[in-house]
Amino acid sequence: MDPLIQRWFDLINIRSVNGRELEIAEHIAGLIRGFGLTPHFSRFEDDVEGVRPSVWTELDSGRPGKTMLLIGHIDTVDVTLENWKTDPFRATEIDGKVYGRGAMDMKGGLACLLSTLEYFAAHPERFSGKILAAFVSDEEGLSRGTYALCDEGVLKADYAVMAECRFTNAAIGFRGRYSFEVTVRGQSAHASRYPRRGENALISAGKLAAAIEALPTKSHPKLVGGTWCVRYMSGGNPDTLVVPDSCYVFVDRYVVPGETAEDCIAQIRSAAAGLGLADKVDVRLKPRKSPYMQSFAVPEDHELVTTLVDCYADVTGKDLELAYDPSVCDSNIVAVTLGIPVVTFGPSGENLHGDNECGYPEEVLASFEIYKRMVERLLTP
Ligand SMILES: [Zn+2]
Repeated sequence: MDPLIQRWFDLINIRSVNGRELEIAEHIAGLIRGFGLTPHFSRFEDDVEGVRPSVWTELDSGRPGKTMLLIGHIDTVDVTLENWKTDPFRATEIDGKVYGRGAMDMKGGLACLLSTLEYFAAHPERFSGKILAAFVSDEEGLSRGTYALCDEGVLKADYAVMAECRFTNAAIGFRGRYSFEVTVRGQSAHASRYPRRGENALISAGKLAAAIEALPTKSHPKLVGGTWCVRYMSGGNPDTLVVPDSCYVFVDRYVVPGETAEDCIAQIRSAAAGLGLADKVDVRLKPRKSPYMQSFAVPEDHELVTTLVDCYADVTGKDLELAYDPSVCDSNIVAVTLGIPVVTFGPSGENLHGDNECGYPEEVLASFEIYKRMVERLLTP
């Protein structure tokens, strides 16, 4: 078997569902040592037992130059065992597709990053500057692995490749996302006296919810625009004859560049004021254990993007489509928090986060070739 494919299989065979990243982190650290490099472990604060590390390393050519960050997540989502036709924690090839949890998202990408690192560790004369590689935990959760590396200040680079599973198109922009908690207050009273007495918070909240979803958003030529989604509401008590005096509203807001959390809160407040509810509504950004992801887009003529497009054409003979993703991922942190231009591209497959997830060996082999050429061209000696 091709050593790269074997590496991919080995990674799939290690169960690394979000929350149990230690074994795969140690496996990757072992490979890095095998390349003659030093692995560093990074732990995030909430990981009290120290079982969810990220691993990173640096390969220095010894010559001045730029730095390339190669990054990917080592955790996967969980599985519902009864729906799999193969063992999800054993890579199984059927009709040219490789099945297993992480086969698509994103152990093929990890294998390619590791082999790229191995190649340049063995050929330091083929690049100048540095290559940083980061294998992060908790991407499928709160991205605490990547945020911890940000806090440590170890990820400084000129370019980044996020080896996520999208092969026929590369994402160069993502929206951001915030969650808001809105509390709408009314006035309780005996239900039999309503509506002469009392003020129904559920009715006020319903009107406000509709008004929130009708609020304008900024637009972006490629990311299209922001969106509002009222995702959860609760209030009232079906067991007592009381007019509801409070309603909780949970609002998701996807944003494009230029839209801040403060702007969104002001928008919700103005919607409340428009309904005469200004003094009956509290709005706050939902507290979260890691920062919210903000939106970004790398210019299409940036050398990182054009180099990827060129290398893709060289390896596959095809044009690579540039994409803008409506969601968020760790690329948002790389681009916004770390300020590193990032392309999100890597071997893909089918059934992302679903049963019978699988990946394509030919895309793993091609992605490795593409990463190698990108590093060679961007870090020319
Ligand atoms: Zn992923």
